[in-house]
Amino acid sequence: MAIADFHCDVLSKMLYHSELNPLDASVNKGAVTLDVTLDRQKMGHYMLQAYAIYLSESKPKNIYPVLRSIDLFREKIASCPDYKMVVCRDDLQQAVAQGKIAALITLEGADGLEGDWALLRTVYELGVRILGLTWNYASWAADGVLEPRQGGLTAKGRELVRISKELGLLLDVSHLTDTAFWELAELTERPLIASHSNTRAVCPHPRNLTDDQIRALIALDGRIGLTYVPYFVSDKNKVEVEDLLPHIERICSLGGENHLMLGSDFDGIDVYIDGLRHPGEAGNLAVAVEKAYGKTFADKLLNENAMSFLLKNLPE
Ligand SMILES: [Zn+2]
Repeated sequence: MAIADFHCDVLSKMLYHSELNPLDASVNKGAVTLDVTLDRQKMGHYMLQAYAIYLSESKPKNIYPVLRSIDLFREKIASCPDYKMVVCRDDLQQAVAQGKIAALITLEGADGLEGDWALLRTVYELGVRILGLTWNYASWAADGVLEPRQGGLTAKGRELVRISKELGLLLDVSHLTDTAFWELAELTERPLIASHSNTRAVCPHPRNLTDDQIRALIALDGRIGLTYVPYFVSDKNKVEVEDLLPHIERICSLGGENHLMLGSDFDGIDVYIDGLRHPGEAGNLAVAVEKAYGKTFADKLLNENAMSFLLKNLPE
């Protein structure tokens, strides 16, 4: 069964460790290694991968590493014939028709845009189609989930929502505070995604979504990417693939059968679900979901809901 994954951090690892190459397994043996490689994506039957640009908290946060990340994506991933860079609906349809892995650029945290609309428009022109307003702390646009003051959107953040709508840039709520989530949900007139978050009802971590937030995302016809970060799944010592199922059931019980997708967070984590350590093991999830809920729902979760979202919301 084909897999669409809405979040990985391979670009960030490549940005700070220039020796890494997702196309060459032989360099994947040092102290820092990649989870997401082409070989493993093929092994896991990937049809879509979103690549997040993420700037480390301990490194400069300006436009330069954002542009370097876009260049890495183009030079080291999108230029390979196994991938098709996707910036519009037509690109996605072509990727599917040609059996290529659709590759999408997202930006995790608005920090590097420095509140400058020229930079926002420029990264959009270069192919960024989804933007998360923050990582875990405050950016100029909003507060992230670990920011002690737990604020919402700044005035500039509100402006960002308006300009994103004009551009056709989609917004991602994963990492926002609850306050920022609700301010954004009220302000947006477009579907929102939570690219990599689970349910707080099953695992009470602040990075997960409350039932009301899940209902709001569903009402906007947005999407929720189930994430494999073990401590967002369960507080057990050894987290297994089956531990994701209660999150799926919770979201479906709230009406989210057509709104669930995947957001692995591979290369953004250094602990893993047992049996789900890299894209090549995605089949274990596919088997568990199909066994529990049947093939029709498994196809929705694994790829159809993600694809239908992009075919509806990417620019024409
Ligand atoms: Zn993240």
